[in-house]
Amino acid sequence: MGDLPLHERHLIPPGKRFRLRDVDPADTGDYKDKKGAKKQLEADRAELIRLQELLYAEGKHALLIVIQAMDTGGKDGLIRHVMRGVNPQGCIVSSFKVPTPEELAHDYLWRIHKVVPPRRMIGIFNRSHYEDVLVVRVHNLVPKEVWQQRYEQINQFEKHLTENGVTILKFFLHISKEEQKRRLQARLDDPTKHWKFSVGDLKERARWDEYMAAYEDAVNLTGTPWAPWYVVPADHKWYRNLVAARVLVETLHSFNMQYPPSAEDLSKVVIPD
Ligand code: ADP
Repeated sequence: MGDLPLHERHLIPPGKRFRLRDVDPADTGDYKDKKGAKKQLEADRAELIRLQELLYAEGKHALLIVIQAMDTGGKDGLIRHVMRGVNPQGCIVSSFKVPTPEELAHDYLWRIHKVVPPRRMIGIFNRSHYEDVLVVRVHNLVPKEVWQQRYEQINQFEKHLTENGVTILKFFLHISKEEQKRRLQARLDDPTKHWKFSVGDLKERARWDEYMAAYEDAVNLTGTPWAPWYVVPADHKWYRNLVAARVLVETLHSFNMQYPPSAEDLSKVVIPD
């Protein structure tokens, strides 16, 4: 694993049994500290800005980035830091909350499919259809027979999207229970962060082990060649950002995109005074 380039190091190979306990949330790979990672992250952020414009101009691909994490896991921070500077017109961020009555009246993928990015666009899912095999499973919001079928349904749904021009990247930002405690305490200690603190989050924290089991199953059952999971060590925010930016840049590079030529001959065009 240590020999893999950074963008592949946290990719979970589909078909191989994955155990969450083998991932150290405090791992920082070959990097010692934030300072040492700065140059790479800045280079990738600049490249991401360039590649997003190309993605938009070429108009052949859509990129869907799914972000899942426990509370305080860093979903918002990742979006803020990694996407900073990217043209907002080319990105759509969708956050999935407790479903509304209308959403609940539909199948669980209805609200998801509606906001899958079209070609040219980067779509970011802050939470996703995976909530329907995570919180829903942990809290028994539907019977086991119902959520159990969803893994395969999700695989088919994601396959359908992939075959129709959407590239899917799935990130599980993995923090330790201790790190979550530190982050929750920091929110409690800072009045400007109280709006982010919900006493309900503590109820979820109490079910940590059940969530970890549900995440492990999700990664094992929905890590596919067409929509792989990255389990990103996320106790160190800078490393989390570094890994995500690397993966995004390498994925966009793999599209081999070109600026489209003009449909007309522009060689003799003169702009009138
Ligand atoms: P976030 O924590 O993402 O910043 P919120 O504090 O508003 O945003 O939390 C959203 C909540 O919605 C989470 O507790 C999440 O588990 C819940 N949620 C999302 N999707 C579903 C779903 N399909 N069923 C039940 N709860 C869901």
